[in-house]
Amino acid sequence: MYDVTEIRRDFPILSREVNGKPLVYLDNGASAQKPQVVIDAMTRAYSEEYANVHRGLHYLSNLATEKYESTRGVIAKFLGVKDENQIVMNTGTTMGINLVAYGWAMPRFEAGDEIILSVMEHHANIVPWHFLRERQGVVIKWVDVDSTGHLDPQAVIDAMGPKTKLVAVTHLSNVLGTVVDVKPICKAARERGIATLIDGSQSAVHMPVTVDDIGCDFYAITGHKLYGPSGSGAIYIAQERLAEMQPFIGGGDMIREVHKDEITWNDPPMKFEAGTPGIVQQIGLGVALDYMMGLGMDNVAAHETKLRDYARTKLDGLNWLQVQGTTPDKAALFSFTLDGAAHAHDISTILDKKGVAVRAGQHCTGPLMDHLGLTATCRASFGLYNTEEEVDKLVDALELAHDLFA
Ligand code: PLP
Repeated sequence: MYDVTEIRRDFPILSREVNGKPLVYLDNGASAQKPQVVIDAMTRAYSEEYANVHRGLHYLSNLATEKYESTRGVIAKFLGVKDENQIVMNTGTTMGINLVAYGWAMPRFEAGDEIILSVMEHHANIVPWHFLRERQGVVIKWVDVDSTGHLDPQAVIDAMGPKTKLVAVTHLSNVLGTVVDVKPICKAARERGIATLIDGSQSAVHMPVTVDDIGCDFYAITGHKLYGPSGSGAIYIAQERLAEMQPFIGGGDMIREVHKDEITWNDPPMKFEAGTPGIVQQIGLGVALDYMMGLGMDNVAAHETKLRDYARTKLDGLNWLQVQGTTPDKAALFSFTLDGAAHAHDISTILDKKGVAVRAGQHCTGPLMDHLGLTATCRASFGLYNTEEEVDKLVDALELAHDLFA
């Protein structure tokens, strides 16, 4: 049974107060809180098991290497990937997508080649492609979402042409909560010889993901949203792409031999993991993913679906509040604006006084904000430990904000 009261006890920060009120943490879309097991594992790693990895032959180095490397297998299991050597560990999605841009796309794409993006991408899945546009004349093709925030897979497929080299789309929008049906997009792309990159930063947190079933070429995740440490993460890379990809960052670990006039690379995934990695961060990530799998991702998804439905009904009852993104199958993530002149920052400040933490701003989604005709929204994003009672507290705080600005 999914016992949210029990689960909340696993997260020490949830019992603290903010501004004299019990914390209602609804900023999980930005970063999630950490369970005690992750904090303990990181403390243990530093206090009992720490040394650099892949280098020493001494006891602690071997132990740290074993712990660090075991996370690769955990990530593969979590993402439904059979071969853990297709998991490149890194600091998060931004690094993963930049690796693809620099290591795979830049050496291969020419002027006029096309990259398809949806209008609701995060800047992490936009800016690296602008580098290719500015530096190499690559064309970015944008696919819009409809008025509910739904992204029609067929619209993405229709945008594919003979010059398209890559489709890079989010699996779950960090602003609209839209879940994108990525599998048909990946299938159609594969049939046309086009690569696919899926930004799984938000999706992997809220639902079971089986990358081998999705059939994409790249799938990026970020540890700090997955109840793991900041500075941890990974990207799945299909075998063919791994073989095609050039190293992006050079340094120790990613080489086999270095001489004055010659260099040979390590095998993937090490070829793409230069320098001392985030050893303890990745150890913490492995524990976080084990924790989530222990709860069961189906159970997490079911809990959050109930929360979404409850929150949707409550927020729909506020006729002075506009939710952005109304597709039926969205995640428990609500971006909204309020009638009147109240700025999202002012609203979030009032909510904060009530202990309710939400995010306000443009959420690193400039093109989506342009599309919506907005400069900022407030966003309440729920996680596996949130409750219906917290939805009620959000609504109470919103009513206060509305009264103040009415
Ligand atoms: N993609 C999406 C959809 C996100 O929500 C975020 C973080 O907010 C990112 C990418 C960036 O991830 P990271 O924090 O690992 O750089």
